[in-house]
Amino acid sequence: MNTPNLTIVVPCYNEEEVLKETINQLTNVLEDLIKDNLITNESSLLFVDDGSKDQTWKIIEEENSWNPYVKGIKLAHNVGHQNALLAGLESAQHQSDCAISIDADLQDDILVIRTFVEKYLEGYDVVYGVRDKRDTDTFFKRTTAIGFYNFMKKIGINLIPNHADFRLMSKRALQELTKYKETNVFLRGIVPLIGFPSTKVMYDRKERFAGESKYPLKKMIAFAMNGITSFSVVPIRFVTVIGFISLVLSGFTGIYALVQNMLGQTISGWTSLIISIWLIGGLQLVGMGIIGEYIGKIYFEVKRRPKYAIETDLYSLENMKYSTLL
Ligand code: UDP
Ligand code: MG
Repeated sequence: MNTPNLTIVVPCYNEEEVLKETINQLTNVLEDLIKDNLITNESSLLFVDDGSKDQTWKIIEEENSWNPYVKGIKLAHNVGHQNALLAGLESAQHQSDCAISIDADLQDDILVIRTFVEKYLEGYDVVYGVRDKRDTDTFFKRTTAIGFYNFMKKIGINLIPNHADFRLMSKRALQELTKYKETNVFLRGIVPLIGFPSTKVMYDRKERFAGESKYPLKKMIAFAMNGITSFSVVPIRFVTVIGFISLVLSGFTGIYALVQNMLGQTISGWTSLIISIWLIGGLQLVGMGIIGEYIGKIYFEVKRRPKYAIETDLYSLENMKYSTLL
């Protein structure tokens, strides 16, 4: 295999506190790999600014002006981690042989990037970074994550446990990825569906280098809901099953009420009546909520809205300049 051209894609949302350090560390990693001839010297670091409100884009531009590896894409507004990542990966597929996605906060062990590349050279199309321990995450994050993976497995969604979006993908895997046209992207679910040869690499997840998590509880819940409803209709079936059970139960209640009526004790039925009204009402609301979730999805999917808008592109422009020089 020829020496590959690697792009490391880093989505950034308000990351001014860590970005310089991240750029320094990733530049070192890249230079080491280039020195050892594992990747070409045209490899790059692609920072996707996801509509940050702080100095993030300024830092990217500044670094881009002197660091030959630093490229950037500025999205016109905040579209969320998954879409920002996709913006970077879709740009990278045209210009590199493989791409690695990594968070900007240095929580993932950048030293395993070398192992990723080695695995790629062995012929794997997808290399998943899997967290060995999660003791740097909060207790809450850890337990909700375990619950999430278990639930997803139960309803038949194949996720790689403890794998976040730290992974390598080959050019052809990236090209396949871009064929998934859904508006709600959930990369952790889609990438295993692609099905090229893949392997896992274990690493320790560290604490955020600086700044705060950009995934507050609200975003975590949205992320989990999206993951579930994008890949499974089990919740809808669950509603059907509950509906069926309540139907059977109401049959029994009906017989019971009839018997009570025949015995002349109808007045005492008030309590059970109130309970069933509330119970059925509650069940219907839950059901409608879940169905609404799917209808909402269909609504967004049929729109075929673009997932992001690139405002400034220091990545392909740079490369264009380069190719016209040749
Ligand atoms: N991120 C993004 N857009 C967002 C939220 C987050 O691009 O709307 C980026 C963020 O800058 C980071 C990565 O996604 O590089 C993961 O976010 P974070 O580290 O805050 O999540 P956590 O590690 O707490 O799950
Ligand atoms: Mg993080």
